[in-house]
Amino acid sequence: MDRHHEGIVRDDSGGEAMNGVRDLLGAIAALPLHRRVRVLNVCGDQERVISLSDMRRQLPDVVEVVPGPGCAASICPEADVFQALRLVERHSVTLLVSENLLRLPLTEPGNGPRSLVDAMHSGADIRPIAAPIEAVVAAREKPSRDMVLFLAGFETLLAPLAGMVLDGLPENLSILLCGRRAEPLIDRLLAANADDFDALLLPGNRCALTGTGEWDRLSNTYGKPAAVAGYTAINILSALHSVLQRHEHGKASVENLYRRLARPEGNAMARDQMERVFEPFAGGWRGVGVVDGTGFRLRHAYDVINADCRYPDYRGEMIEASRQMPDGCACAEVLVGRKTPAQCAMFAHACSPTAPIGPCMASEDGTCFLHRSLLSAA
Ligand code: SF4
Repeated sequence: MDRHHEGIVRDDSGGEAMNGVRDLLGAIAALPLHRRVRVLNVCGDQERVISLSDMRRQLPDVVEVVPGPGCAASICPEADVFQALRLVERHSVTLLVSENLLRLPLTEPGNGPRSLVDAMHSGADIRPIAAPIEAVVAAREKPSRDMVLFLAGFETLLAPLAGMVLDGLPENLSILLCGRRAEPLIDRLLAANADDFDALLLPGNRCALTGTGEWDRLSNTYGKPAAVAGYTAINILSALHSVLQRHEHGKASVENLYRRLARPEGNAMARDQMERVFEPFAGGWRGVGVVDGTGFRLRHAYDVINADCRYPDYRGEMIEASRQMPDGCACAEVLVGRKTPAQCAMFAHACSPTAPIGPCMASEDGTCFLHRSLLSAA
């Protein structure tokens, strides 16, 4: 039996029967919440479940689940997209790119394409891929053609990428990478205003790789209860119940509800491989700025497969050209949980999945895209 609430069995309880979503919603509604509680969600995959299940509407009014910086494509700096475009325009290369980066808009494209998909439709050699390993296969199939793999992601992308690099890439393949980790950004947000959020919902898959140590530190430093969750509605509601209950009791700690995969120390092999391949740096977050320790880039030992080093001739121009967000777009605030998509004047009007204005609508994992999808389904 769950130790927090009679009638609820934690979903990560090793085979015990789970009560349903309705029971969990009932248990949350029964909590004596005396004032508004804002729970920051830092995971795009969990945001997809929350949005598409219409979970927010079913929670009590005092519970606000705030989408945060969980979509790696949305936070990919415009400069990186510009760099990828210039690269495919000016060099004889094939650009292999995650689908979620294809439609990211350039604010000032000049006479050129507004996005990678525009360039692709104009004939640029850009090919969407679903997984990085596809780039290795493509490069091996055509060894005479130089190829660049353009990716944006958190540790769940970086860990398998590190393994790929250590296995050895084909000579004709290099990497253009926007690799990020979220913890230092959340630290900065809470340090700026600890009252912005009352609790944290944490991504089980990332914690399975990195462990929970840094989240423990943030939880204790700022007095915020946090829960590591999986990826079903039941997983997420269990985690919400956990943090809400501990918030009411003034208990700041991390509860791990994804114990089958996420251990406090993380995955030692994955951590070691990431450490060997990547080094931390001050990474840029679109609309947010540069945050120390949030970036992962290839170590110098891998300069030969680093597209930044292989094709260095447009970086200055790229930085000049970046303005970060389109006029009137509230993505900068949406990314850090200070606004909801509905608080942007262009949401549901000028900006839509078929005509995205900002990165949060251009990526299928973006907060605005997910919220708009829910609106369309209603
Ligand atoms: Fe940006 Fe469009 Fe979202 Fe507004 S609705 S914040 S313009 S992506």
